[in-house]
Amino acid sequence: MKQIVNYINNEWIDPKTSEYIEVTNPATGQVIAKTPLCGETEVDMAAKAAAKAFPSWRQTPVQDRIQYLFRLRDLLKENHDEISRVITKECGKTFGESKAEMVRAIENVEVACGMPMMMKGDVSEDISPGIDEIMLRQPLGVCATIAPFNFPGMIPFWYLPYALATGNTYIIKPSEKVPMTMKFIFSLIEQVGFPNGVVNMVNGAKNAVDAILDHPAIRAITFVGSTQTAKYIYRRAAENGKRVQAQGGAKNPVIILPDADMEMTSTMVADSAFGCAGQRCLAVSLAITVADARNSFTEMICDAASTRTVGYGLDDGVQMGPVINSHSKERVEQLIETGSKEGASALVDGRGTTINGYEEGAFVRPTILADVEPGSDIWKTEIFGPVLSMMHVNSVEDAIELTNSHIYGNQASLFTSSGRAARKFRYEIDAGNVGINIGVAAPMAFFPFSGWKQSFFGDMHGQGMDAVEFFTQKKVVIERWPKEWSRKF
Ligand code: NAD
Repeated sequence: MKQIVNYINNEWIDPKTSEYIEVTNPATGQVIAKTPLCGETEVDMAAKAAAKAFPSWRQTPVQDRIQYLFRLRDLLKENHDEISRVITKECGKTFGESKAEMVRAIENVEVACGMPMMMKGDVSEDISPGIDEIMLRQPLGVCATIAPFNFPGMIPFWYLPYALATGNTYIIKPSEKVPMTMKFIFSLIEQVGFPNGVVNMVNGAKNAVDAILDHPAIRAITFVGSTQTAKYIYRRAAENGKRVQAQGGAKNPVIILPDADMEMTSTMVADSAFGCAGQRCLAVSLAITVADARNSFTEMICDAASTRTVGYGLDDGVQMGPVINSHSKERVEQLIETGSKEGASALVDGRGTTINGYEEGAFVRPTILADVEPGSDIWKTEIFGPVLSMMHVNSVEDAIELTNSHIYGNQASLFTSSGRAARKFRYEIDAGNVGINIGVAAPMAFFPFSGWKQSFFGDMHGQGMDAVEFFTQKKVVIERWPKEWSRKF
């Protein structure tokens, strides 16, 4: 069993707490690690180390700061398989999905290596004769990230490389459910040899989060997780005068028009709905068929759902792993029950799944719920499991209206061969990440990872130029150097 410790001021520090929670491999049910539930003491140690490291890290030229990231990128690539195995063991997704997750993490490090170009300021000469105006971007100081369980390797990298490259020092609090991935990544960070205190890790749950939200030395916080926690984080961090962005939950619709290529559509929708066992914030969870699309799509998606190979993500040929733990399995199964009681029909029912050899695993097979009603609990609630709810309308206008009436706005997709319908959808849909003939519209690292409505609180997002904006503060300088002060040379 792995003992999880903190990384503060370039040292592995034993937790000061005696409270722990167990981390299980969701496929085997076996306890594989214990996460210490750290709090104020450890957060204060990390914040003080990061604050002490800030002045000289800030003065380190940006082209030198990115050399550390180049080394980190190489180490992440060299250890790609091993990190991915750790992700699968603690998070449950398949080995291929874990590898894909780390590709995205590495991509963010690579993009942040362009920081010498990305954080340049602006100058306007002669805003009045002889007066110049300059905009500089300066780092904030100590920044922190609070991460969710579903992408333990990737999500911290929406922020970490940008925070460091812009000259901030940094603290990460991984999800207590999946602490092993970041522990492994910090063993690589140790090999990179950042100066003391530049990058730190504190493990824990609510107490650690609250200590981060209240610590006076921490200037900015990024959060990814459920909407309920996102609202709490956003409010409390803002009350404390911190810069904050908080990504929340989702209920992502896909609209299927009759002119869509149904084979491609059903394959992509199945990959989106059931990939990572539906535990992706960009997983499609509502399929809205329009007019004649209903019958053919329903038949094909039911076939894709019932033939998916479910099992342990490290075994060959497995297409879908378990959900994160037995609580989550129970919750997902209860929500399927709620849907049935509300009148939806379970065309494919994944409840009661047991996988041979992994009887203790938290497996739920892909599930299709048809005839879900707008306004019902199953329509409103983020399930975060491999459940696709289906609805039917008669026009693209109705489908857009239905989509826009939902509280979430993380992702929306459309499948069609009509450019006109696609343009209308792109223009009118209230969602931050939009896919047209794409099932998982995950932005590349050089675009912001968007999200609207109750899926996002803040203004600047993670990744790309938004991350540069978030992790820097602008200073505007107006300068006059009168002629009469000049010495002759
Ligand atoms: P969560 O909100 O339970 O936990 C996220 C983090 O918040 C963890 O580090 C946890 O320790 C902390 N936390 C939890 N409850 C807290 C509380 N009461 N007070 C203070 N801190 C608390 O989320 P999760 O279950 O780890 O992740 C799944 C959720 O994340 C889903 O809703 C999913 O949609 C969302 N998510 C969103 C995005 C996005 O980009 N919008 C990406 C990934 C995941």
